Amino acid sequence: MKAIIVYPPKAGVWLKEIDFKEKVGSNGVLVRTLENGMCGTDRGIVNGTLTFSRPPDGYDFLVLGHETLGIVEEVGDAVNEFKKGDIVVPIVRRGCNSCFNCIIGRQDYCETGKFREIGIRGLHGTMREYFTDNEENLVKIPSGLRHVGVLLEPLSNIMKTFEEIELMQRRMIWNCNDSSYECRNAAILGSGPIGLLFALMSASKGFEVFVMNKREPFEAELKVVEAIGAKFIDTTKDELGEIDLLIDTTGYPSAFIPLLKKIKNNGVLVLFGTASGDQYNLSTEDVNHIVESNIAIIGAVNASKKNFIEGAEYLNSWNSKYPGVLESMITKKLKPEDSVEYLKNKPKGEIKTIITW
Ligand SMILES: [Zn+2]
Repeated sequence: MKAIIVYPPKAGVWLKEIDFKEKVGSNGVLVRTLENGMCGTDRGIVNGTLTFSRPPDGYDFLVLGHETLGIVEEVGDAVNEFKKGDIVVPIVRRGCNSCFNCIIGRQDYCETGKFREIGIRGLHGTMREYFTDNEENLVKIPSGLRHVGVLLEPLSNIMKTFEEIELMQRRMIWNCNDSSYECRNAAILGSGPIGLLFALMSASKGFEVFVMNKREPFEAELKVVEAIGAKFIDTTKDELGEIDLLIDTTGYPSAFIPLLKKIKNNGVLVLFGTASGDQYNLSTEDVNHIVESNIAIIGAVNASKKNFIEGAEYLNSWNSKYPGVLESMITKKLKPEDSVEYLKNKPKGEIKTIITW
């Protein structure tokens, strides 16, 4: 079958014919890949900057791909939950089998660091025509979400992050006096797919939402921002007011540290993005503000199966509440043979580029 492969930690990416015989065990499901999303992690592996990426044991290459939409082709004897024709999304991280969090399916909080991730570290990904997986690693989504289901994997991370935010904020009363979050506001740094999904989620939770970038918005970005009643802030000319929740998706300290003092009492800074090569000093005034204002700083990565299942519910509701908006986030669809160049460089105006198999 055709597959998009890499040789981490070396840079480079190839579309090649690979000789995989996918065998369906009794708990296994054979899935035909419909679509893969491309993201910063994929490009980091391709460009050799994500040095933790590694092939599975016994291989010198890694099949790339962790944002997936597929259709079930065949199921093993013991599989009850899935049947041929179901639309599915695989979870990404697979637990270490030794720490408590992994044992209860919360491998996103793995203690040992010995987890594996499809298409990233230690397990082949899904940028290939077919893959098999155990049923426990798959999430079924309604067939009515087939056109936007490829967004579920990135969204699962946002679900996990909000779970963390809401747990953290139970440290005091943070709801408004009507029990909602409607008196709160959220600013999201970065307007890529993750930034926009954070904006959608924040709006659904009731926050007043600001989406920030250091430029004018692209048309597709503006469509999402306007549909959910958010405001785009071009940081080269607009000023952000005080905020309750600051979510950084850029990974650049020079982007979020200057905004620390905008965070109100008992507010939260969420760090989601990762990057390299940027440096910005944290001043004693910043530290004083964090201390005196009870500001929580949360790092968030990955998601559990529960977050995928809940994410599918949100995709479903946004699909009907904001017609055409989720589709507009898919800015380019490519055939596998055309995708290699796009994995090397992000095209201008991209929200989400996908590969259709
Ligand atoms: Zn673990």
